[in-house]
Amino acid sequence: MEIKEMLYEGKAKQVFATENPEIVMVHYKDDATAFNGLKKGTITGKGVINNRVTNFMMQKLEGEGIPTHFVEELNDRDTLVKKVQIVPLEVIIRNISAGSFAKRFGVEEGIVFENPTIEYSYKNDDLGDPMINTAQALALKLATPAEIETIRTMAFRINDVMKAFFKEVGVDLVDFKLEFGRLTDGTIVLADEISPDTCRFWDSKTHEKLDKDRFRRDLGNVEDAYQEMMKRIFGA
Ligand code: UDP
Repeated sequence: MEIKEMLYEGKAKQVFATENPEIVMVHYKDDATAFNGLKKGTITGKGVINNRVTNFMMQKLEGEGIPTHFVEELNDRDTLVKKVQIVPLEVIIRNISAGSFAKRFGVEEGIVFENPTIEYSYKNDDLGDPMINTAQALALKLATPAEIETIRTMAFRINDVMKAFFKEVGVDLVDFKLEFGRLTDGTIVLADEISPDTCRFWDSKTHEKLDKDRFRRDLGNVEDAYQEMMKRIFGA
């Protein structure tokens, strides 16, 4: 597949056109940002890990009947995916209190919820991705009622699959962010990435953080945490 011009450069990824108008190539970088771009840095090897972890999870989810944008892993950092129109909503599922949830509601981190929560942010960098509810998302025509229902159902199913998988490798899935896209025929598929950049992972026994919070909070051993997640998922 011939790779063509860069279509888009984000904080952690670049997207390239290919000779097939329905397929793009994602390239994963080592660049890391946090707090809406205020904090910048590099996590050596992150691009490789996020590419491989994302593709592993996407294929696992496909196996469970959840449609995704995944097409083919080309190498350590490059993957072909279906071109989608991204629904401008970040979908956040939480199993355990942490991060902005703990802050907003004035509770400690680590409360295990009986049922997972769902919340949405409006994907808009200039506004700092404000929290939005489904009625507001509908008012702004960010998605149709049917799309929001599909996204909600898929997000909880994805949580069930991921939670069970990570439990087997000794990791608690605390929370994570998903993005969805529309194919040309309107089908909603899971898009973007699933990685230590977009999920909170805590070691089930020690509760050690194995995700981007080590970067956000300057906890040290950032690269080691990402490598440890690779080990848990793919074995030594
Ligand atoms: N998250 C993300 N991108 C964002 C915001 C959040 O991937 O722009 C992920 C984050 O890694 C965490 C979950 O979504 O796993 C919930 O994040 P939270 O709302 O607690 O925000 P944070 O504390 O990261 O600002």
